[in-house]
Amino acid sequence: MNILVVGGAGYIGSHCVRQVLAAGHSVVVLDNLSYGHREAVPAGVTLVQADMADTEKVRRALREHKIDCVMHFAALINVGESVHQPERYRDNNVIRTFALLDAMQAEGVKRFVFSSTCAIFGLPEKMPMTEDLPKKPINPYGENKLEVENKLKELAAAGKIAFAAFRYFNAAGASLDGAIGEDHSPETHLIPLAIAAALGRRPPLKVFGKDYPTPDGTCLRDYIHVDDLSAAHIAVFSRLDKPGTALFYNLGVGKPYSVDEVIHSIERLTGRHVPREYVDRREGDPPALYADASKARAELGWKPKYETLDSIIATALRWHTTHPRGFATK
Ligand code: UDP
Repeated sequence: MNILVVGGAGYIGSHCVRQVLAAGHSVVVLDNLSYGHREAVPAGVTLVQADMADTEKVRRALREHKIDCVMHFAALINVGESVHQPERYRDNNVIRTFALLDAMQAEGVKRFVFSSTCAIFGLPEKMPMTEDLPKKPINPYGENKLEVENKLKELAAAGKIAFAAFRYFNAAGASLDGAIGEDHSPETHLIPLAIAAALGRRPPLKVFGKDYPTPDGTCLRDYIHVDDLSAAHIAVFSRLDKPGTALFYNLGVGKPYSVDEVIHSIERLTGRHVPREYVDRREGDPPALYADASKARAELGWKPKYETLDSIIATALRWHTTHPRGFATK
């Protein structure tokens, strides 16, 4: 198939691009490079530098490259920022996504793979989290993703598209060859910040909350390797042939680790102390989030290759050690 990867110069998108190529498909990346990195796009892959709401350029890309399927990774992803800039988040994550969907329809492209999030569930009543739990997001980021999921459902019900929405848990790690990895600006995620603190490249890590109702008082999350996330996207292609198809999958390993456990893993792997201070809880952080991904396992034959936290963090560590300043280019 010919795949258009929107946001393919970003963290998860760029890992997915490589796997789509490895699976024998052809890939075009569309990215406005506001956060993505040109260097993350493999040599030989066409990069269309455009916003997903630039209908003319998107339609031309869909047409000229005879695109069969669009994978959509382009989003603003900082939950805290979404609380303070809800309009900006809705504009980018919802309105521009709708423009992308309109362009697809105008060009008759019917397959869509969407990066959703476990944040659509808000504060879930049940762990591990299955797909059918109530959707009650508690921040604009989660609301944005849920609004798109609902739009996709409508379009599928009208027979206009076939789609899969993957609710990611905590994406982490880097490609095995160490060539691409996480480089957000500003960085807000636990693993890169804790690694940078251990390597003396950043101030001490602030641990948000030590009084959660969890075994060590810090939050529990489900860290999943970015290549494992990507693998599920490839596995779903064959199920998107029939317009009307609407698929939802929670993607996590299903094994919760606390913030302190992440820190201890980094200390074990680096042999260094992670300088840190325990501070107040961060607004909007649920105590625990972890997936029941048995639906993806059963239906897609998908299975994470990285099942332990240490194995995931080891790949992140390699990337951060060899790329102290992240990518050389934007
Ligand atoms: N966290 C932390 N200090 C930081 C960043 C994150 O203690 O500087 C905690 C955060 O409260 C959460 C976990 O680490 O419990 C994972 O946060 P991250 O931002 O990486 O991902 P999220 O779970 O928000 O998607």
